[in-house]
Amino acid sequence: MGLLEGRKGIIFGVANEKSIAWAIAQKLHKEGAELAFTFAGEALEKRVRPLADSLGAKLILQCDVTKDDQIQSVFEQVQSSFGYLDILVHAIAFANKEDLKTDFLSTSRDGFRLAHDVSAYSLTALARQAAPLMQGRPGSILTLTYYGAEKVVPRYNVMGVAKAALEASVRYLAADLGPKGIRVNAISAGPIRTLASAGISGFMEMLHYVEAKAPLRRNVTAEEVAGTALYLASDLSSGVTGEVIYVDAGYNIMGM
Ligand code: NAP
Repeated sequence: MGLLEGRKGIIFGVANEKSIAWAIAQKLHKEGAELAFTFAGEALEKRVRPLADSLGAKLILQCDVTKDDQIQSVFEQVQSSFGYLDILVHAIAFANKEDLKTDFLSTSRDGFRLAHDVSAYSLTALARQAAPLMQGRPGSILTLTYYGAEKVVPRYNVMGVAKAALEASVRYLAADLGPKGIRVNAISAGPIRTLASAGISGFMEMLHYVEAKAPLRRNVTAEEVAGTALYLASDLSSGVTGEVIYVDAGYNIMGM
């Protein structure tokens, strides 16, 4: 029997087969979870639908996380179709490309607001809707973050500041939802080539740097991140909440 037999989950953030969310979805499905998927815009539906179909998903819903009505509609449909929810995967981030090119000092008010709305606030908005469906269940909410939240990574800029807000949100949400038995954690993943990471100037440099300096002398894969996501989604991590777990080939431990 799989680790997630009888569990129901929803995955936010599959853009294509390279998405970290897709690697996580495959891993959770393999362990028996029934999954719902969302896509941000109609253009993305064409790419998400065949992937979701391949895992037998019944719910494939539109959700731009900056739109409260779309978030509400998603959870209404999850309630009527699933009845309850055990797992929520938040693998969403966005910042204007021009804010990831030069320095943090140049960040516009609108760019700051947008990056924080999509990449940080959305976790709270989704968790608030998910919590009633997780009542009495072994609920697990997880999100994806990056080392640029805590140390300066050139050109990660406003996304680093948004990820810092996201990591703090994980701790506050874990405290709010812990008494209901719902756990909230983050995975801090090393750099992986995806659609989102392609928008960061100098991303290849980040990959080379990790390969040269990380204790394991290589980069991580989305499948390795998915392994930790399975741990966090399942009862294997039943005593763990409010944590940021690194899956980065050990890069974060290095001082010099
Ligand atoms: P990805 O495949 O491009 O996924 C990012 C997802 O965010 C896409 O599905 C994107 O949808 C979605 N998104 C953006 N704006 C949205 C909105 N307003 N509403 C709903 N969804 C929206 O890239 P990824 O690398 O797998 O990213 C997943 C998560 O991992 C992100 O939080 C990222 O910061 C984090 N992470 C990535 C790395 C890395 O190196 N790749 C490392 C550490 C952490 P659209 O494409 O339709 O906009």
